[in-house]
Amino acid sequence: MNARHPAPGQPRRWRPTPLVGGAAAVHAGALAALAVAPATWPWAAGGVIASHLALTAAGLWPRSTLLGHNWTTLPEQPGARIAITIDDGPDPDVTPRVLDLLDAHRARATFFCIGERARRHPRIVEAIVARGHAVENHSQRHRHHFSLQGPGALRREIDAAQTTLGEIAGTPPLFFRAPAGLRNPFLEPVLCGFGLQLASWTRRGFDTRTGDAALVARRLLDGVAPRDILLLHDGHAARDANGAPVVLAALDTVLRVAAERGLHTVTLREAIV
Ligand SMILES: [Zn+2]
Repeated sequence: MNARHPAPGQPRRWRPTPLVGGAAAVHAGALAALAVAPATWPWAAGGVIASHLALTAAGLWPRSTLLGHNWTTLPEQPGARIAITIDDGPDPDVTPRVLDLLDAHRARATFFCIGERARRHPRIVEAIVARGHAVENHSQRHRHHFSLQGPGALRREIDAAQTTLGEIAGTPPLFFRAPAGLRNPFLEPVLCGFGLQLASWTRRGFDTRTGDAALVARRLLDGVAPRDILLLHDGHAARDANGAPVVLAALDTVLRVAAERGLHTVTLREAIV
């Protein structure tokens, strides 16, 4: 994470990262080379293809900062703090039980909600906020081709969720997390326009795929340290052999062990410095 980047909430000027700026320069250089020396086309094409591969690889790596600012840990601050982030809800079955669990441990969490789901279950979103947690933007529809879209479609998708979640939660989101963490170079300029900060994670439990809560908890706790951002899911939650959403037992273990190790939970917006 870059400690110098501006706090979320205010539109900010977009500045291309070295990778994005370099890719743009390669494209401009290739066009110029073709204009003056058409025979150089294999080199020009090769450069353009290589820059696209580099941008695509950066977008497929959720924790990379090569395409723009990205919280992969909490900002540096005194105190042993971690953030629990919970994606893909609200879910009428799972989210209320997650909220009870958080209350029982006196823990705070950040919920990256899907706009359409929030519209279907507004009372649950209100409960998230009323119980001291934060609601952030995880896109309106959580489409799997999110990262294949151009700037206009990205803006509409994020704007719709920003409006939906802001209306229901009473305060607009400050953070955005891309569906599946996948991005493209158009995302960062769009986020700058909304004053949204991209947030990924430090560790994830793969709790949408793993039906073993102990394994999910181990993945999250193995090496857990102050400033870590942990990723779990209340929507799309995998179920254990008894049909229980694994997030419940996994989160219970994570919160118990975190407390034993003196780690205090905060929401992402509480961690803004
Ligand atoms: Zn998601």
